[in-house]
Amino acid sequence: MIIIFKTDLTEEKLHRIAEKIESDGFYTRPISQYGKLLLSVDGPNTEKLSKEVKKWQDVEEVIDGHFPYYLASRKCHKSNSVIRIGKGDNQVTFGDREISIIAGPCAIETEETALSIAEKVKDAGAKIFRGMLFKPRSSPYSFQGIGKDGLEILDEIKKKTGLLIVTEVREACEADLVADHVDIFQIGTRNMSNFQLLKYIGKMNKPVILKRGMGSNIIELLCAAEYILSYGNTNVILCERGIRTFEQFTRFGLDIAAIPSVKELSHLPIIFDPSHASGKSSLVSSLTLAGISAGADGVILEVHDKPENAFSDGTESITPLQLKNLIKKVKKIAEIIDRRI
Ligand code: PEP
Ligand code: MN
Repeated sequence: MIIIFKTDLTEEKLHRIAEKIESDGFYTRPISQYGKLLLSVDGPNTEKLSKEVKKWQDVEEVIDGHFPYYLASRKCHKSNSVIRIGKGDNQVTFGDREISIIAGPCAIETEETALSIAEKVKDAGAKIFRGMLFKPRSSPYSFQGIGKDGLEILDEIKKKTGLLIVTEVREACEADLVADHVDIFQIGTRNMSNFQLLKYIGKMNKPVILKRGMGSNIIELLCAAEYILSYGNTNVILCERGIRTFEQFTRFGLDIAAIPSVKELSHLPIIFDPSHASGKSSLVSSLTLAGISAGADGVILEVHDKPENAFSDGTESITPLQLKNLIKKVKKIAEIIDRRI
């Protein structure tokens, strides 16, 4: 459960209250977020404690365990959270009128191909480059990524193009390794429920794209975000990337309804990934237009110069020219729904 205190409560008093609760066998953790002073309390039978705490004069409200994503919810923060990344002309925002386009290959392969793709996605209108070094693959025999050898390539891309860079991190040591080289972390579908990683990223102040687990529902996605928020990092961008369904033609089912649903439940921005969802380049354009129309704050797309030669996910990668044409269409939709690129 979470105890929300009146804002004039001093830290000293909070400390004393926490000590008292702990002496009754509970675990507490103070959280200061969105201008509120909170105490997370877990342990045996918090229901009885909850009834008692509600009577305390310093307490504004008690959120019981049945509402597990308070910080991520609109109940906590009514207006959209706006996340700003980068500076000057290279700045992007998530959560206001802007629709941000993230594009790049599934994985960094060589410096030459990565740089060539980066220049072309920039020319097409993308402002963020996806440059994955560590690949979480279903099979141990599939390409695992070039790892830390790619850091210099990311630096080079940033220097030459000015694009912001997102890369996936699968464990804490990867986050430490890439932190000074990239602008945004990605936590992929397979790690959405890696709670230790979520806590670790929560303690870093780096924007993070948190992808929905392929077998997770919307509330579980918001709970995963809650981990990051409750450990201090409010720069969370959610991502719908398709969930497992009985359908075999597409790789996953892109849950378009998740986009307005998340907007209803949460103040956090949400983007989507039609590439990994569909697994088919032929479907990427239609799905992109659908997701943007549904109100997404951005889209992450796999783009490759020569999809047939890609080390991974070539079947779902579109070409830079296809990206350019797609962005033109996205711009038209953006106008209709009063947004901009
Ligand atoms: C990716 O974006 O590189 C990726 C592996 O995506 P997902 O975690 O959605 O499968
Ligand atoms: Mn991929």
